Amino acid sequence: MTGINRITDIQKGRCQCGEISYSMNKSKIISTHHCHCKDCQRSTGSGKATILFISKKYVELNGEIKYFETKGSSGLHVRRGFCSNCGSGILSYTKELPHILFIKAGTLDDSSWVKIDSNFFTKSANDWNKPDESIKCFEGNPGLMYNLKTLIKSF
Ligand SMILES: [Zn+2]
Ligand SMILES: [Zn+2]
Repeated sequence: MTGINRITDIQKGRCQCGEISYSMNKSKIISTHHCHCKDCQRSTGSGKATILFISKKYVELNGEIKYFETKGSSGLHVRRGFCSNCGSGILSYTKELPHILFIKAGTLDDSSWVKIDSNFFTKSANDWNKPDESIKCFEGNPGLMYNLKTLIKSF
């Protein structure tokens, strides 16, 4: 019965049709966020995207993800990955820091354990999807110091 805890650390997710699936080690998640930026609103068709930051080396991906690239407000190029068959958004990353993936929490088979650390881009949040003020809020991109901390934790 050894190794049970390690097994439960592995979480799986997939797109609607199942052509894209992944598994990851949840104990390696760096941080979790709601992003209310306009690009996340457009790409999800809702008020925000909920994303988990994790180093790529702890994620196993199956299937061919299609990417759409936009230039974010920070100047970084954000590549949003989705299933070309069913259109589900799975993950994104920045072209400049491709080893950190932002997994979309809604694609997890079980996301009941997810705890959100902070809100990004609260300045573009809508009244119909207000940011949770009980957690840390950033008006826009969290900024260089925060991003550096994320980067350091990713290695
Ligand atoms: Zn699909
Ligand atoms: Zn966003």
